[in-house]
This record gives sequence, structure tokens and C-alpha cells, in this order.
Amino acid sequence: MAEIVANLRSVCDKILYAATKRTSEHRYYEPRLVAVSKLQSTELILSAYEAGQRHFGENYVNELVEKALNPQILEKCKEIKWHFIGNLQRNKINKILNVPNLYIIETISNDKLADVLNNSWPRFRKSDDSKLNIMVQVNTSGEKEKSGCDIIQVSTLVKHIINNCHNLKFLGLMTIGMFGYNIANGPNPDFICLIKCREKISDELGIDIKNIELSMGMSNDYEHAIELGSTNVRVGTAIFGNRPQKNTL
Ligand SMILES: *Cc1c(COP(=O)(O)O)cnc(C)c1O
Repeated sequence: MAEIVANLRSVCDKILYAATKRTSEHRYYEPRLVAVSKLQSTELILSAYEAGQRHFGENYVNELVEKALNPQILEKCKEIKWHFIGNLQRNKINKILNVPNLYIIETISNDKLADVLNNSWPRFRKSDDSKLNIMVQVNTSGEKEKSGCDIIQVSTLVKHIINNCHNLKFLGLMTIGMFGYNIANGPNPDFICLIKCREKISDELGIDIKNIELSMGMSNDYEHAIELGSTNVRVGTAIFGNRPQKNTL
């Protein structure tokens, strides 16, 4: 537990330092740290929360529901903010929308998913006009097995969400990108691609760049992502250590 607090401090320090290396155009915000707790225990989440962490990321709907409804989490983590960062199947939508303290779903990849969420949200929200935060996940690496919207469809999808999904609030773009890229070869092409997608939708839809977040960067490249302008890094292993296997949980 003490180790997690130390890891968290170190990651936060590195984030602050990386933020000072940004160009001046990217200095209008503080990058947000999402502690990715998938497959990790509730105890570890409690420790990180006690140390001040508020945003947590989960990949699996059932696991998120179980953790969010855990009595200790409900009692001690009243300000927790859950980010869903996994693949969302349409048959799990009611389950996820019922999660207390759901902050955002970062993985909207097509208009059908956006429509179902938009239509369902009024049955779950706590106040009449609250909107569900979402990001559009982009498949920047174009790998078949990666999820996310194709690069060329991003602005059509964002436009659809803004024009037709009035119960959703579009916060920005998210990418996972190719694993194992070596930054000795220059800026990560997936991050550059996401930045370009943002420029394109800003131009085409007339949205201020400052109102389009970029969720990019994980344990092995979050500092690099922040230097390039990431507003939201998703860090698991560097905080919680290696994850247990999924089937042993
Ligand atoms: C697991 C996961 C992370 C965290 O990965 P680490 O390498 O452990 O930091 C970030 N984003 C997504 C979408 C993930 O699935």
C-alpha cells in the first residue's frame, strides 16, 4: 500500500514536470491523471483515493459495477470519478449507466452506440439536464484488432453526436495506439494522428481546440504524450504494479 502511494506521487511529479516541457500553446490546462485500476483490488483503489487520487479507469463493465457498488468505495470515496475505457457492448449499456459516480465513457466508436447511450441516459441521470460525458475513440494505428472509429470518420461521428445526441457531452478524442513504439524514433505517430484529428474537427465543426481534450498516454509513454499535448493520461502499471491475470480474479 505504501508503495502505491509512493508510485502515485512519482507519477504525479513526472506529469507536472512533463507539463513544463509543453509548448506555450498547450499550457492552458493541467493534465488529468486517470489511475487505471482494472483487475486490481478494491483495497488498492482505496489507498490511491486516500492519497488524493480521484479519477479511476476501468475496462470491464461487470468489474466496474462491482467496484463502484462496493460498500467501502461508496462510503469512503464519495468524490471518485470513474472513467470507462474498455470496449462497450450494447447489451451492457443499462448496467454501465447505473454506475454511481460514472464520470465519462471514453470509448464511443460509432453512431449506433452514441444513439443508444443518448436515448438511455435520461432514465439514469440524477438531475434533469445533466449530460453524459463521452469521448470518441479513434483507431489511430489502423490495426484491425484495435477498436475505435476510423480516422476518416471521426468528424462525421463527432458532428452526429453534437447535432443529434443532446444528452451526451462531447469532451474529446481518445486513442490507445500501437504498443511498443520507441520514442527514440521521434514523436509517437498515434499521438500526432490524434492531434491532427482534433485540428480537423476543430476546423470543420468550428469548435475551439481548447474544448477538445486528448486522452492519450499510458504507463510507458505518458510523459511523452503530455509533452505533445495530452490532457488525460491513463496510467495503470506505473501506479499499481503488474496486473493479476484476468481469469484469476
Ligand atoms: C490497461 C489500459 C491502460 C493502462 O495501461 P498501463 O500500461 O498499465 O498503464 C490505459 N488505457 C487503456 C485503454 C487500457 O486498457
